[in-house]
Amino acid sequence: MKQLDPSLLSFNTVCVHGSGGVDPQTGAVSTPIYQSSTFAFECAEDGAAIFAGEREGYFYTRLGNPTQAALEREMAFLERGEAALATGSGMAATSTAVFSAIDAGDNILAARTLYGGTHKLFHELMPRFGLETRTVDPNDPASIERHVDGKTRLLFIETPANPTLSIVDIRRCVRECRRHGIALFVDNTFATPYYQRPLELGADVVIHSATKYIGGHGDTVAGLIVGKKEFVQRARMEIMRDLGGIISPFNAWLLLRGLKTLPVRMERHSENAMQIAQFLNFHPKVARVWYPAMRTHPQHEIAASQMAGFGGMLAFELKGGRDAGVRLLNSLGLMTLAVSLGDCDTLIEHPASMTHSTYSAEELAQVGISGGLVRLSVGLEGIDDLIADLDQALGKVPA
Ligand SMILES: *Cc1c(COP(=O)(O)O)cnc(C)c1O
Repeated sequence: MKQLDPSLLSFNTVCVHGSGGVDPQTGAVSTPIYQSSTFAFECAEDGAAIFAGEREGYFYTRLGNPTQAALEREMAFLERGEAALATGSGMAATSTAVFSAIDAGDNILAARTLYGGTHKLFHELMPRFGLETRTVDPNDPASIERHVDGKTRLLFIETPANPTLSIVDIRRCVRECRRHGIALFVDNTFATPYYQRPLELGADVVIHSATKYIGGHGDTVAGLIVGKKEFVQRARMEIMRDLGGIISPFNAWLLLRGLKTLPVRMERHSENAMQIAQFLNFHPKVARVWYPAMRTHPQHEIAASQMAGFGGMLAFELKGGRDAGVRLLNSLGLMTLAVSLGDCDTLIEHPASMTHSTYSAEELAQVGISGGLVRLSVGLEGIDDLIADLDQALGKVPA
């Protein structure tokens, strides 16, 4: 079977063809789904050697499966990392990666603006086990300096961040983390490796909720960790093995299928989002629009310096506050009122009462999530239909 060198091919070509070519055993163009929980050994000695880690081989799907391995190989390549680990959800990716890096008595630094589930893990579950999370402003070296100590292991950021699309300067975080001898973990869910590759900028670990743009069709919950071989191996053999948050072979296959169209989807998501951002920007009932491509975005320059495109997520604030937000959501005809993001369908939600309801009122205010803030995951529909739907719904919102 012919083998191409993926490092000589464009990102788009590798997405379509994969970095490893067709299945070497059968020539199958689509990676086969190895729907098997267990794998037979050739002989007793072979089984003992695989169990002892002296020989490579599959033996039980919680510890590895060929379909999962194919997905991990692709994601490691696309994120420019040494290795990847696929997990059963984005939260399994975050928890598995963080637990792989810390021990009892350690602390971590985390940005204030994070996915609501991540925030809850860091501030509610981890403290129950004596693991402290210190909130920092990752764009401010003095804030990191104030909170870091000898027990700090990592800084966890998300950029663009959920839901306000705030941008963290990855290069600056890399500098600060190296100075303090801690690792930088980046949740790259919103940008995907098509638009942003934190490992190339010096970050240590990338996390994905693959539920979103990697899968891309709103049908699969999954996650991914990408980083150095040694770190990923520890995450797999020490943490995943015991916590058990694995991906199913079928879901791994759905993500492999998603990757084939990642570049074309991301480009359409971005084009549609830009047009909607411009429409909302001039709408009299809209107080503010947050989309990193716009010059009015407070961190537009940072976004432009580290992203190759701006993606399909945007947020906007209605002048009429929470009541206007509720009225808008209930007046839409085409857009789907649902959480999650990165789907082909446009999804619209209200962070204060939905995805970020785990934040206290004070925390919501600190990160700028007002009652009138609406988050939009712009889909792949015709742009005229999307704008017409928003326009008619905004017409029903009291001024
Ligand atoms: C959805 C999401 C997660 C959590 O992922 P799940 O797949 O839902 O477990 C983490 N980070 C970000 C940025 C997300 O949007």
